[in-house]
Amino acid sequence: VGKTTCAAAAAIGAAARGRRVLLVSTDPAHSLRDVLRAVPARLAPAARGARRPGHASTARRGGSLHAVELDADRALGRWIHARRRHLRTVLARGTYLDDDDIDGFLRLSFPGVDELIGLLELTRVARARPYDEVVVDTAPTGHTLRLLAMPATLGRIAAVLDGVSAKHRFLAESLGGEAPRDAADAVVDEIARESAALGEWLRDPARCAFTWVLLPEALALAEARDAVAALDAQGIAVTEIVVNRVTVPTAGRCALCHARAGAERQVLAATRAAFPGRPLRLLPDEGTEPRGVPALRRLARRLAGPPPPLRDAPRPRALAATRAATAGGGGRRWLAQVAPPGLRLAIFAGKGGVGKTSCAAAAALALAARGPGDVLLLSTDPAHSLADVLDGGAAAGPSRSGASLADATTVEAAPRRLRVLELDAPRAYGARRERYREAVDTLFAALTGGSRFDIAFDRAVVQDLIDLAPPGLDEVFGVLTVVEALFPEPGRPRYETVVLDTAPTGHALRLLALPGAALEWVHALLSILLKYRRVFGLGELGVDLLAIARDLRRLQALLADPARTRVVAVTRPAELPWMETRRLLDGAARLGLPLGPVIVNDVTPPGCARCRRAADAEARVLTALRRERRSPGRRPCAIIDAPAIAPPPRGPAALARWAEAWECDS
Ligand SMILES: [Zn+2]
Repeated sequence: VGKTTCAAAAAIGAAARGRRVLLVSTDPAHSLRDVLRAVPARLAPAARGARRPGHASTARRGGSLHAVELDADRALGRWIHARRRHLRTVLARGTYLDDDDIDGFLRLSFPGVDELIGLLELTRVARARPYDEVVVDTAPTGHTLRLLAMPATLGRIAAVLDGVSAKHRFLAESLGGEAPRDAADAVVDEIARESAALGEWLRDPARCAFTWVLLPEALALAEARDAVAALDAQGIAVTEIVVNRVTVPTAGRCALCHARAGAERQVLAATRAAFPGRPLRLLPDEGTEPRGVPALRRLARRLAGPPPPLRDAPRPRALAATRAATAGGGGRRWLAQVAPPGLRLAIFAGKGGVGKTSCAAAAALALAARGPGDVLLLSTDPAHSLADVLDGGAAAGPSRSGASLADATTVEAAPRRLRVLELDAPRAYGARRERYREAVDTLFAALTGGSRFDIAFDRAVVQDLIDLAPPGLDEVFGVLTVVEALFPEPGRPRYETVVLDTAPTGHALRLLALPGAALEWVHALLSILLKYRRVFGLGELGVDLLAIARDLRRLQALLADPARTRVVAVTRPAELPWMETRRLLDGAARLGLPLGPVIVNDVTPPGCARCRRAADAEARVLTALRRERRSPGRRPCAIIDAPAIAPPPRGPAALARWAEAWECDS
């Protein structure tokens, strides 16, 4: 949607006004380098060696700009390394865990950890030099919300660690000794202090301002509305709304431009109504994306100055699809590329704002119409938009979000073979956690003998470990729904194919790398249970963990099998999305995931002079893209063109019509 571009422009603008600025990306799909045309530092220690993109030409009167992309794994490693000895002391004091178990836990890596460590690193880097402003390019919606909830998570971690230490202090004091807070306790205090400070900082409008960036599309507005409300509820104020890529109305009679301007006009009116009292800034669609410091400086002036007047678009006439009529003949060749017969799992991945969810929904509809067998369209993106895409904007459509496979629903006017589920991963994980808590209570209640206090403390520790599942673990369990749908227990419905709509790029990749990491976590928990086994057997929790381990291994095998799994990348015919898509494809290949076709969405059909200019620019990207996919060393893949239509397709009928016009080059 241009989030990174706007963040970079804001940072450059501030530096040009004489401020010392640090620009940080916490989005695991780093596109800062593409936007700046320079490689930012990967958070070198104390931000030393941070490159200064455009330093000389940007800065005035002592202003400066440093840019860094956060490397979550390295940052977490460094954070833990500095505290490992003390964390180990705290954990060893209060539990039966030995050093190997504890190190095993401290080595684990999870997707939510990016967010956690992102905030801590931000403060560290910002303190390393005297910056006036820090501009943060965050991860896409759902994950940003999680980032902002992280201070609370940190606070809980500190509380748990303190609880663990409490046992040690209690025992020491009951033996008549004293247990002054030592260096290990100081680490716990530090975590508690930092989490409180971060929470305050985010909520202080004098020190922290949020800008929401969206496209003038109904889906993007629905997402923005949910997210801004969620932020408000947390006491974090969004101070400005930026609507990017707004079509400037022309006098011509081009059906596409006309329909697009008309549809956007309605969305803009709805956006104004949705955020009363908040400044709304419209950035016109320039045809090309600003890249590099000079172009970004021009955008910065736009962001800082008064909003440009945008003339009213002509009233919408026919809002029908403009390209579908010219289609036909191409048939459903693309479907054989997305899901050849025998395929069980099609994973849709792409950057935010490329229409990934619409493409996944259109493919699932076509697949359900083709048969055989039932199709599950599953979303694991914390910012769900499947329901919005499929219900055609009906405000009172049936809820498609749920905590388990049993909540999957059919869609009106869609093939009966299709079921849809937006997985509420935190809720699903919450239910699981409650079961575990009860199981642990039952087990400890059955224990007799030994010190009462000892048991009480150990029970608290095991409960806390369950509570403190690494952030992001909920999403891993969410993905296990795929296994549940494809390989059901006897008596449960079986799906032939799952179409998976994932969170945007960086998180999708981390999620797909996860079965291995999740297995490690399960094994770590199991090894603790095994220590207690002599006392009370493996219990329900143990049995459950063994089942999870089995499912995770199944998922790993499925993800590695090109006959059953395909990753479908969705992109737009523009430089920045394609650069990120290339990294997605390379990352997926490194993970050993089988690559399917690339869907290039929003390809401008021939039309007015402006459409032709856009089409020419897109053709250059498409040609480069095709040449590159066929170059030696890369596995060739089919490229599917999906035409731009206005308004964007919503509801099964519009999606099916749109997909009729997709064209496949092989
Ligand atoms: Zn046009």
